[in-house]
Amino acid sequence: ALPRDLFMPERVNSTGLDLNNDSQLLALSEALRASATATWTALPASGAETPPQRVRNPADRRDIVGHVVEATMSQVDVAFARAAAAAGPWAATAPGVRADCLMRAADLLEARAAALLGLIIREAGKSLPNAIAEVREAVDFLRYYAEQGRALDGPGYGPLGVVTCISPWNFPLAIFTGQVAAALAAGNCVLAKPAEETPLIAAQAVALLHEAGVPQDALQLLPGHGEVGAQLVADARTCGVVFTGSAAVAKQIQAVLAQRLNPDGRPVPLIAETGGQNALVVDSSALTEQVVADVLVSAFDSAGQRCSALRVLCLQADIGDRTLTMLRGALAELSIGNPDRLATDIGPVITDAARDDIADHIAEMRAAGCVIHQPPLPDGCAQGSFVAPTIIDIPNLAILKREVFGPVLHVLRYPRDGLDRLIADINATGFALTFGLHTRIDETVARVTALASAGNIYVNRNLIGAVVGVQPFGGHGLSGTGPKAGGPLYLRRLLAQRRDAAFV
Ligand code: GLU
Repeated sequence: ALPRDLFMPERVNSTGLDLNNDSQLLALSEALRASATATWTALPASGAETPPQRVRNPADRRDIVGHVVEATMSQVDVAFARAAAAAGPWAATAPGVRADCLMRAADLLEARAAALLGLIIREAGKSLPNAIAEVREAVDFLRYYAEQGRALDGPGYGPLGVVTCISPWNFPLAIFTGQVAAALAAGNCVLAKPAEETPLIAAQAVALLHEAGVPQDALQLLPGHGEVGAQLVADARTCGVVFTGSAAVAKQIQAVLAQRLNPDGRPVPLIAETGGQNALVVDSSALTEQVVADVLVSAFDSAGQRCSALRVLCLQADIGDRTLTMLRGALAELSIGNPDRLATDIGPVITDAARDDIADHIAEMRAAGCVIHQPPLPDGCAQGSFVAPTIIDIPNLAILKREVFGPVLHVLRYPRDGLDRLIADINATGFALTFGLHTRIDETVARVTALASAGNIYVNRNLIGAVVGVQPFGGHGLSGTGPKAGGPLYLRRLLAQRRDAAFV
């Protein structure tokens, strides 16, 4: 059992913005208008040494959101030297003082949210509700890990030293900030490499943390492609890695880290959050209207670009046709397009390469005769990277060879007496991130949730949007190493054993 106080029941999550409140909506509209033409920059910690590159809006490639300058190899080296020098003083800073910096950053982020929403929408192609949720989650991570860090004031704990954080483009603010906040709260210095697609919002998060009191050299931004990440991981001065991305890259990182030990004699810790082949199982007792609403959100919110997103909807055979008819009808009502319009439900995917990769999968499935729903893209999608929400009827799970990261839903029908076999097949994919069940039979809830292997199991609701501190998020197997983000054990992976005390 975990100590009770780790869950910090008195903590309150950020409330975000209320779009039903007229004055908030007005202020927000003005801020969005102002930020529609603003441009932003992201630079390496030690300044620009190479020419800037344009960052384009995935919904409309003509829209230049800003410029990024990527870090050179020698700049990564300089960053390590500075971080190593800053590590002692930051580690010696009282946990409460470090926590106060993160709390101030959370307050600043909430106060400036409106100005940043337009950037998130334009750089990452997020809808406004998703952008608001991003800010809220980033604020929650800051406050949650700040409080976890404050509680570290005791014997037995010590920071690792320099921690490398490598973050994804699908949560360019929330996951970036969460990784960094956790590592800083534990007393580490951080070298942060944001996804190459979304460096601008990461630069804003770093600027806020510096303004809030985190020393410049204790947190350094290193924009760049995979080579920058690879250099950071390979350098023996990295004493811990936090990574969110593909399982393939996580394996590469693990292989590199396995070559060395940290100064405390332990392996270099890695926290990796990777993909999923997430299933939702629906039996004939489920409420179809609720199933359809939850499927739409789970599979198509964020254009399906969440690790948590629903990939395989498993319908008991006798409700298959009825559910699909309703689902197709509801899907036809969703609006696809540039998320600069409030009415947009499904925005772009992140790059043309991502779009083409998803299209390849759909073409393969079409050749196998499985695509049952793929509407044409509406006008206004020609300038961006869009994929129409697609439904694919599959005969078995084995046909899915990989995670497809986009608005593509697979549907599998299972026989009435085939539930246990189905769960075994889902578990056999090796992924274990999110799993959902829709049923109104209590015995089925108990049996299926006991059999299913997944980090986050949801019953009679959607599969996305885990809330910091309330629903710690993360999987096992091919889906990640744990500990779960936004959960009470996360910071512990980022601590070293101190020689003067037994590790607890
Ligand atoms: N935490 C997010 C959710 O629950 C998913 C994070 C991810 O996609 O990496 O939807």
